[in-house]
Amino acid sequence: MNETFDILVIGGGINGAGIVRDASGRNLKVCLVEKNTVGSATSSWSTKLIHGGLRYLENYEFRLVRESLKEREVIKKIASDITTPIPFIIPYQKSLRPKWLIKLGLFLYDNLGGKMTIPKSSTINIKNEFPNILKDQYKTGFQYYDLQIDDKKLVELNVKDAEKKGATIIENREVIRANRNKNVWDIILDDNTLLKTKILINAAGPWINDTLTKVLKQNSKKSIRLVKGSHIITKSLYRQKKAFTLQNEDSRIIFVIPYKDEYSLIGTTETEVFSPENPKIDNSEIDYLINSVNKYFIKQISGDDVVSSYSGIRPLIEDFKEASKVTRDYVFDLNEDNSQAPLLNIYGGKLTTYRKLAENVILTLKNHIDVDSNDSWTADHKL
Ligand SMILES: Cc1cc2nc3c(=O)[nH]c(=O)nc-3n(C[C@H](O)[C@H](O)[C@H](O)COP(=O)(O)OP(=O)(O)OC[C@H]3O[C@@H](n4cnc5c(N)ncnc54)[C@H](O)[C@@H]3O)c2cc1C
Repeated sequence: MNETFDILVIGGGINGAGIVRDASGRNLKVCLVEKNTVGSATSSWSTKLIHGGLRYLENYEFRLVRESLKEREVIKKIASDITTPIPFIIPYQKSLRPKWLIKLGLFLYDNLGGKMTIPKSSTINIKNEFPNILKDQYKTGFQYYDLQIDDKKLVELNVKDAEKKGATIIENREVIRANRNKNVWDIILDDNTLLKTKILINAAGPWINDTLTKVLKQNSKKSIRLVKGSHIITKSLYRQKKAFTLQNEDSRIIFVIPYKDEYSLIGTTETEVFSPENPKIDNSEIDYLINSVNKYFIKQISGDDVVSSYSGIRPLIEDFKEASKVTRDYVFDLNEDNSQAPLLNIYGGKLTTYRKLAENVILTLKNHIDVDSNDSWTADHKL
């Protein structure tokens, strides 16, 4: 390829996909390189929710929750074919979070994001709504809504639209080397293809720092924590199209979510790991998830009920807190030393905030690209 791209993105997860869609819609020459197929890593191993993140309110992450709630509304509009609003029930348990705290959290959740088309929260009688599902001691519940999404499809739709708008999408090719010059990066793929780009974006998810130090040979200014999250899948534990948010003694929460008509998706765990490669569930995670369910449900499950499982790695920004409290927000590291072509590293993030993240990437690069950063368009164009 002889052309020089304006932007080349390493990594076809949701963040890379969102960035190439946004940039190609602004008439920039964009290329995405993904070492496997798009959406095949972290972005398809998620809990598959577009959510405000009720739990993050406890960590005072109001900015993130507000942005996520607003994005939930946008994604409901632009990706209506692959999203479904779904009620979540928090069974009240006296020894855990007090009623006033849950109600305060839900009040903020209902209001922080502004005007919503998603139903507001309410208090429910569990015995009436879920007879013979939860144990007798769970009588009161709190109901709120979030969106269920086909996470992989979300990546694919973004990439398809980018391609339609002229982006070059290269799958099954790994970026293995790069040379940084004054105005241009030389990017070398594993089949020796040479690509040239004015700006390089590293959106390699859990591989971000490996890519930065081993492939791009640049210093990493930020540390990340790799936190594995696993899910188990069982035959449906109940018929209603409602999900449960189960509180645990360790303050963590576990979701039980209806999945593909006849299954329940149960997750997630948080275990620190040291490599992003081939994450797999281990026995202690299976036990943890099973115990959480058995504490609440009348029907008791065991390892024999697990029909499938999957694990993903959260690339979280190191802020030296316990795994469940580490921020899920995203952070940019723009390396724009004047004597060299710019590099933007994308740390953290969520499926939910990918579109806004992409918009903010364009804003961050405004001194290097010829676009009007006020010309944001992705919130109004269906995927
Ligand atoms: C268990 C779990 C549950 C989650 N649940 C939710 C949820 O319900 N809702 C939500 O909003 N968020 C959720 N998240 C967060 C969300 O899934 C991630 O933030 C998001 O998917 C990360 O996307 P990404 O594009 O950064 O990374 P990835 O999807 O991992 O993409 C990075 C890509 O880079 C590629 N790559 C790496 N190195 C190279 C190279 N040298 N050359 C070419 N390609 C390369 C990889 O192959 C990979 O495909 C969850 C995360 C986990 C782990």
